[in-house]
Parts: sequence; C-alpha cells; structure tokens
Amino acid sequence: MPTPTGVGTEELRRANLRAILQTVHTRGPTTRAVLTRELGLNRSTIGALTFELQSLGLVTEQTSAVGGRSGRPSHLVVPCPDNVVVAVDVGVDRVAVALVGLGGDVLDRRDRGHQRGEHDVAHVVESVAQMIEDCLAAVPSKRCLGIGVAVPGAVRTGDGLVRFAPNLGWVEEPFTELLANRLGRPVSTGNDANLGVLAEHIRGVAVGYSDVAYLSASVGIGGGFLVGGVPLTGARGYAGEVGHMQVDSLGPECRCGSVGCWEMKVGENVLLRRAGRLPGGGPPAIAEVIASARDGEARAAAAVDEVAEWCGVGIRAIVNLFNPEIVVLGGVLSQVWSAASDRVDEALSRSTLISPRNDVEIRSARLEDDSPLIGAAELAFAPVLEHPQMVPQAV
Ligand SMILES: [Zn+2]
Repeated sequence: MPTPTGVGTEELRRANLRAILQTVHTRGPTTRAVLTRELGLNRSTIGALTFELQSLGLVTEQTSAVGGRSGRPSHLVVPCPDNVVVAVDVGVDRVAVALVGLGGDVLDRRDRGHQRGEHDVAHVVESVAQMIEDCLAAVPSKRCLGIGVAVPGAVRTGDGLVRFAPNLGWVEEPFTELLANRLGRPVSTGNDANLGVLAEHIRGVAVGYSDVAYLSASVGIGGGFLVGGVPLTGARGYAGEVGHMQVDSLGPECRCGSVGCWEMKVGENVLLRRAGRLPGGGPPAIAEVIASARDGEARAAAAVDEVAEWCGVGIRAIVNLFNPEIVVLGGVLSQVWSAASDRVDEALSRSTLISPRNDVEIRSARLEDDSPLIGAAELAFAPVLEHPQMVPQAV
C-alpha cells in the first residue's frame, strides 16, 4: 500500500479553483449558492475563489436584485467568453475551424473543402494555419488559450505525431509540430473519435454515462471509448481503431493492407457506390440515398439495407468487447441508424450478445457531425481548466 500523503492548503485551493471553473465551463452560468451546495464548500471560500478567478479574467459575476429564499442578492458566476480557443477538425473532405468561448459557445465557424489531392501535409498545415489566423484576426481583443485539432487517424500521445491516417495518406507525419511552428503557438492534436466521445460525454448524449462507445463514420470509421469514466487511449494513444476491425475475410481490400475492414463495409462512399451514385458527396448525398430508398428506389433501398446489416455486425462486436452503457453513433452510422434501426438491430441481435440488448442504449450523437470539433475545443481548454492560475496573461 502506498503511504497516504496529506493535501496542503495550496493544493486544496487549486483543486477548488479547478472545480469551480470546470463547473461553470460545462454547465454555464451558475449561482454561488449552487456552487456552495454542490462543491461542499462554505460561502466565504466560494466568494474568495470566485474573486481569484475574476482577477485571472476567467469568470465574471453578475448580481441579480432578486435573491433566493434568504432574500440575499444572488451572485451568478459566468464563464468569461473573452477567453477563446480555436478548434479544428481535419476531415477527409474538408476542414472546419471554430472559435469557441470559455463556457463552450461557438462564436465563429469556417469550413473549407479540400481540393483534390490537397492532402499533402504541408498544404493542409498552411491551409489550417490561414483559417486559424483569419478566425483570430477577427477578434483581436480576445485571449486565445490554445488550439486543439481533431485528425482522422492514430495520434501519438505527447507530441501529436500522426502515426497513421490512411484516408489522408499520412504515415508518421509530424503535423502538430509543423502547425505549432507555423503559428508560433502551442497546438494539441487528438484522434477525432477520441475527441468525439469526450464532447458527447461533456455536452452531448452521453452526459452522466461512464462506459461509452462513440462510433463515427464518414469515409473511414473512428472509435472513441470511455471505460469507467476514463478515456481509453492505449499505451501510445492508438486504441479504438475500429474501422480496421476485420468483419469479412472475403474482402474487399482496404487501404491499410488488410481485407474486409469494417470501414470498407459501412463508409460513406461504400453506400454511395452500392446505390449507384458517385462517391464523395458526403452527408447530403447519403441523405439523398436514404430519401430515395424511402421513396421506393430499389437500388438505394438495397444499399441502405446492406450497410445497415454491416453496421449491426460491427456494433455487435464492439458491444461484446466493451460492454458499454451507451453506443453513440455519428456520421453515416447515425444516418443509417435513424433510417433503418430495425435492420441494424436485427443484425446486432442475430446471435447472442453477451450483454443483453436492453442493457445498451444506441443513440445518434447530439452534437451531430461537430462532436470531434467540440472535443478539439475541450482539448485546447484542458490545460487552463486543470491549472486556472497558469492562464496566459498576455492577450
Ligand atoms: Zn483497413
């Protein structure tokens, strides 16, 4: 047994500062009375800590004349949106950049499609850097706390090296270092699905759940997992590559070198090709196929049916592996689930699930296709939420 160590007053103070800031960041404006009750601290402590967060420029206080039961004025602690981060989601087809205020509001957002062949890492770094600079130039008085980026690939913990992002054609690309050098600012990068599960857990459909599987498909599939309330990263950060789980030994061949990977069965372009459409149309094209299937177009209906079947096969393997309380679906998985949940469920339940079907909820992501983007913002906020006193003072 390790020797128990006491907690010093300074450490306790930091923990309490952190608790207040995290509460108002995730829940929005909160009265001092609620903070006092929920954090188990006395009123004068909350008052002193709130004052310190105000002097750090992280919160403001609003006083309403009408008090609570006591008749005292009610002090509302409000996250200060002059503190922003820039969140980036590097997709296979497009880049999204958002300016997000402390408290989680998206203040500005820009999307740009990749040109054909634009996946060259130097080109992506330059394009992303320009979008970030444009976003920040529009708000010169705000304090930028950090930059967080979601990438559809395996990202090494520590330095953000992108080890493998097959749908971008990246292998061992020092993307994070290149972007940080180009901007002259620190950058944090994470796998898009790992950030997606974080966002859905903080602000989405998985609030209050501790065992969560987040599965999102566009061209490829990402998997992000929360196990016992803790993000599953693996030893180096590469856990959760569910897109390359083999579901069919008969094929087809995958970019990763294997055959019959799950993303070769349920990706956007797979559904589009099966339905006789051109690949590359993204979510609107998938919505068109689903609408046509509903209107009785046989080829579209067969494509949706087939992809729904493979959705069920993959989700079943994941439910058996991880025993989640909730499976959160994003991208084309969410679209197919909404259109054909019976068909997905049929495949899911065809053979025995170790955990009874009723024990697992399956839901579409509440943040829709923005889960990774919002998760990237949370990644950028994390250092200040962890150490409020370390907030940079320069604007
Ligand atoms: Zn593969």
